[in-house]
Amino acid sequence: MVKLNYKKKHIKKHPTTRTGIKLIRVQAIVDHWTANYGASALNHFKYFNTTLPNLNDNLPENKKRYATAHIFVDKNEALELVPLDEVCFGANDGGTPGLKLSTLRATHPQYKEGNANLLCLHVEMCVEEDGTIHPDTIARTALVHQYLQKKFPQLKDTKNRIVRHFDVTGKNCPAPMISDASKWNELLELTDAKVVIPPKNPAEVIPEEKPSNPENKTNWLRSKTEGLRYYDTPSWLDKDVAGRLQKGYGFPQTVRKIWVKDPRDNSAAWQYEVKNSRGKVFYVTAAEKHVSVEREAAKSTAKKPLPPKQRGPKPIGEITIIGVSNAAIIQDRPDRLKSKNLGTIDKGKKIKVTGSVRGKNSTSGYWEVIFKGRLGYVTGEFGKYYSY
Ligand SMILES: [Zn+2]
Repeated sequence: MVKLNYKKKHIKKHPTTRTGIKLIRVQAIVDHWTANYGASALNHFKYFNTTLPNLNDNLPENKKRYATAHIFVDKNEALELVPLDEVCFGANDGGTPGLKLSTLRATHPQYKEGNANLLCLHVEMCVEEDGTIHPDTIARTALVHQYLQKKFPQLKDTKNRIVRHFDVTGKNCPAPMISDASKWNELLELTDAKVVIPPKNPAEVIPEEKPSNPENKTNWLRSKTEGLRYYDTPSWLDKDVAGRLQKGYGFPQTVRKIWVKDPRDNSAAWQYEVKNSRGKVFYVTAAEKHVSVEREAAKSTAKKPLPPKQRGPKPIGEITIIGVSNAAIIQDRPDRLKSKNLGTIDKGKKIKVTGSVRGKNSTSGYWEVIFKGRLGYVTGEFGKYYSY
């Protein structure tokens, strides 16, 4: 049986974490996942109380990271890091153009263009080592919702007053509840349930593109953990994550080992440079705990590689094309400057979306859409989103 186990453990005030600005009113709960594999609620208290403020104090203004949430939930407890009448930097990535819920647009001398954070309580779900959200964390988050609904009766309309970060700005957060919307509905149902029993399965991230899994190859790098991050460049930073590997999946070619620094805490560790079947280069941890490299040559009797199971892109909602004079361009990648045009879609037309990505060279990010059976990208500001 999961208990609320709610504790107040407030972080110190700091301009990049806890400004002390008061909420205008409480209009919604915004749920997140930390995307920080293996870190507990207490780990996040330490990060936001000391690590991040110290880090920011030594950075120029344009490099500082502004972040916090009110409550961090893990499989053991719920920690309130910021008092519930103060503003947190939870859901304003990309600035105002990214704001999709106009009901959450509020202004303040510091945020003249409007900012959802002035009206929202932010709840962060912690993530296990393997990238899943533990069933007890999900159940405890439902209990936190109930606790907040008791305190703020206006939040009792669960379906309208509890939203994902994704619903507010389009960020892929909480990712396991974007890739599998049924997990999100499950959490809302638990919130409205009289007795909260943890779900049977944890919420896990479903990778959008599955790397292939042939059985016998040389120099294969395989993931031993579920949801292992791999990067576009040698880096440990969230912004460089290119995707995640399922357990047993990996890359057909391990090229070399490189020593990669982490500027956040001046640590460093090994990564493998790997190539996928199309020769594209990625980087992934070299820690034995997380990966294995199979160096034996394949035998002539080796079984033919099994083709990867194809699962088509799964829509989570649709957008209506707005804000263009005639039609919006559908790009082959989320980068306005480096993409090919797959086609166009007329103003007012609808198209299915699988999610949204930040991409490059667009302040409003990009919608990932399904166009002629494949993925395409439409500039964020040209789509009005409806969730299924
Ligand atoms: Zn978030």
